Amino acid sequence: MELNEALALIESTQKKLFAFGAASSALYLDAVTVAPRDTAEGRGVALGVLAGEQHKILTDPVLADALAVLEAHKGELDRLHARETEELGRSVRQLTRIPAEEYMTYAQLTNEADDVWHRAKEQSDFELFRPCLEKLVEYNRKFAGYYDPDKAPYDALLNEYERGVDTAYLDGFFAEMREKLVPLIKAVGEKPQPDDGFLHRHYPVEQQKKFSDYLMDVLGLDRGHCGIGETEHPFTLNFTNKDVRITTNYKQDDVASSMYSVIHEGGHARYELDITDEVQYTCLAGGVSMGVHESQSRFYENIIGRSRPFIEAIFPKMREFFPEQLGDVTAEAFWRAVNKAQPSLIRTEADELTYCLHVMVRYEIEKALIGGELEVKDVPRTWNRLYKEYLGVDVPDDKRGCLQDSHWSGGSFGYFPSYALGSAYGAQMLRNMEKDMDVWGPVSRGDLSGVTGWLTDKVHKFGGLLTPAQVVENACGKFNPTAYTDYLTKKYSELYNL
Ligand code: ZN
Repeated sequence: MELNEALALIESTQKKLFAFGAASSALYLDAVTVAPRDTAEGRGVALGVLAGEQHKILTDPVLADALAVLEAHKGELDRLHARETEELGRSVRQLTRIPAEEYMTYAQLTNEADDVWHRAKEQSDFELFRPCLEKLVEYNRKFAGYYDPDKAPYDALLNEYERGVDTAYLDGFFAEMREKLVPLIKAVGEKPQPDDGFLHRHYPVEQQKKFSDYLMDVLGLDRGHCGIGETEHPFTLNFTNKDVRITTNYKQDDVASSMYSVIHEGGHARYELDITDEVQYTCLAGGVSMGVHESQSRFYENIIGRSRPFIEAIFPKMREFFPEQLGDVTAEAFWRAVNKAQPSLIRTEADELTYCLHVMVRYEIEKALIGGELEVKDVPRTWNRLYKEYLGVDVPDDKRGCLQDSHWSGGSFGYFPSYALGSAYGAQMLRNMEKDMDVWGPVSRGDLSGVTGWLTDKVHKFGGLLTPAQVVENACGKFNPTAYTDYLTKKYSELYNL
């Protein structure tokens, strides 16, 4: 095969993969938003066929030939084609390494595990889920060997979610978190808590919807390219850089819940919309990694959205949307209320300060499980001990303990650390952004264009043109977790008068 033919072939292949991916995403979006209750069967069949076709496209020997030609001409490729070859080659090698039979059995297992996990969680019965989890751990240890036989199993899995990240890197990161945050959380816990009762007054959904529209305007999300829907768990779904959907969940007795979902998912959407046209319809489209994506959503949600200047900027408008609920509340009181920090049991409801320790518990357990140092039957006991040690809370049952997250039942081991890394990357980006420009002046006037411009230039525009490590270096310089602990120490010292 000639070089030109190989280039044409990978271009058309990636476009096909885009189309199959887009079709699957559209079915998924339909399922979780507007599809009637008893309609899952047909979609299940369609999704199965689409997944099978995607697998066929990626394991086609002609594609492997084309990639071999491109790899042989590596030096002649431009940046776009070089990165496409690298990423596509990686996906192909991985898929062909896992024997088809094991791949199918594993897909069935995760399907079954999801169902069992739901029931086990509902009944708060870990024993019900234990056999599934044992199999999932066993498969993931085996797959880790297929992904990268030269790495320790957990390192190989981590590398799947955040390229270049391993246990040596994370051990150092979490040691820093443990050392600085455990005493900080204790000090905060000894101070009086702000009143946040007004967040839980009655906030009608119709008013909240109008407020969501306003927040999307503040984030500069063009409604011609970014839609908003409602789902039980908020998420962001990207088709292209011109078609992104976010969802939120309205709670009538909690105005901050949807508000911060919209800003968080809006941050994910901002990233997707700002990616260059150059990578669309290729495997480099979309955000570069989970960790970098979370760094962006959490940047908008916490660093900007929960900052005093931002709240002072939007609060007068908030009072127009909710005159009865917020008429007697000040911007300062609102800022304190949405930053209330308190050790708790549930990760997804945790505040900015304690969040990282929830992730640390999961990291230590996964590392030991995949490393073979912890048996599945001992997960609840270890979980509860670590929650007591790091957060000082007693876990009353497995439902609010080790059965709370869906990740393990979906077969994701090594995914959790990305959440904590993302927060830490964001804090370091802020430090660099503050060196380059006046961040808070415009934010205090409700103008986020400078922030978004900086993030677009350093992070968003590249998509997958750079590797995750290159993007992080581009925006953060050499990664240093103390930027994050310094940021949290400063913020919570001010909030709690430490
Ligand atoms: Zn997110």
